[in-house]
Amino acid sequence: MTLTPRHPELQGTCRAAAESLVAADHSLALVRGWYIDVVWGPREHWWCTRTTGEIVDPTVEQFPTGHIPELREYVPYEGIHPCPGCSVAVREGEGYEGFCCAECYGSTVGIPIGRCRC
Ligand SMILES: [Zn+2]
Ligand SMILES: [Zn+2]
Repeated sequence: MTLTPRHPELQGTCRAAAESLVAADHSLALVRGWYIDVVWGPREHWWCTRTTGEIVDPTVEQFPTGHIPELREYVPYEGIHPCPGCSVAVREGEGYEGFCCAECYGSTVGIPIGRCRC
């Protein structure tokens, strides 16, 4: 079975779509995190949850598994993410441009300013 997105045009619209749902319906909260797709792996994503815990995701069909409710998996961002350069845990607001440190950022984007020692 090959899984492909039903609505690939929704890619890149998840944040705006989720925000407008939240603005229109105050029983919804905006959630940022990852959608874990069995075909694509983890993808950064935005969706909504109702106060009852129900997930309301206006753009889920951008993912290959989006139209199969049993395969949907969400992991909310809880203030810590892996550094894109070295995978060390980085807390929101710390580090540099989403990386653990400026040195790690620099070596990943090709600016040799030192070596990450995190
Ligand atoms: Zn790093
Ligand atoms: Zn570092």
